[in-house]
Amino acid sequence: GLAIRKLCKSFAGRIVLDHLDLSVDAGQLLVLLGASGSGKTTLLRLIAGLETPDAGEIAIGGRAVGRLSPRQRNVSMVFQDFALYPHMSVGENIAFPLRGRKFSSAQIATKVADVAEKLGLEALLDRRPDQISGGQQQRLAVARALVRDSQLLLMDEPLSNVDVRRRDAMRNELRSLQQEFALTVLYVTHDQTEAMLLGDQIAVIDRGVIQQVAPPDVIYDQPANRFVAQFVGSPP
Ligand code: ATP
Repeated sequence: GLAIRKLCKSFAGRIVLDHLDLSVDAGQLLVLLGASGSGKTTLLRLIAGLETPDAGEIAIGGRAVGRLSPRQRNVSMVFQDFALYPHMSVGENIAFPLRGRKFSSAQIATKVADVAEKLGLEALLDRRPDQISGGQQQRLAVARALVRDSQLLLMDEPLSNVDVRRRDAMRNELRSLQQEFALTVLYVTHDQTEAMLLGDQIAVIDRGVIQQVAPPDVIYDQPANRFVAQFVGSPP
């Protein structure tokens, strides 16, 4: 799981994250829900090691990661549109996180074949990402996390550019993949509906401060304060 304690980050004297505490249990999906500019992406970048905190601690799988490089953290990030490598085949996309590590090319080929089979991508390995469907692209993004045994999947609004009509199906598929592989996921969105449908837990963030963490029904029925109530649209 993920455990964050008293995390602080400012940019040029402006506080973006203010003594933030947050935990995600292993095998759970937590949605971090907040408006644009509330600090969601900054939090993901701190967890991934792409930014340095001013203060506070981050532990992944029980291990403090403050001194670890992004590569050593065993975290996978998934961005809008899945940020697949467009010029690489599906197979090369899956293999990419293993490059420059201690694996032989035979080991890499075995791992890629294994993960591709688990995700039903084995017939698509030679295609490019623009030659597969949105659902298959999502599975490819998950495959890149599985192939390196990531302990944590950070997802930054991956579905925000997906056609509304396809979004439900993609969301359901993400949920079943997450459960099938017991993935630990921190999923960032500004979309209340998405948060309600996807999260085991929802953490509502406003201006760098977590307002409430609870299961979706509790967030909706018993909002901790007026901000949460208005943001999730609870009945008055
Ligand atoms: P969005 O949904 O729009 O991406 P967000 O909740 O992810 O919003 P962040 O991207 O974390 O918000 O940004 C939070 C605040 O920090 C914003 O005001 C942003 O301008 C500021 N910020 C983020 N990164 C930097 C940076 N490298 N330098 C200066 N300010 C930054």
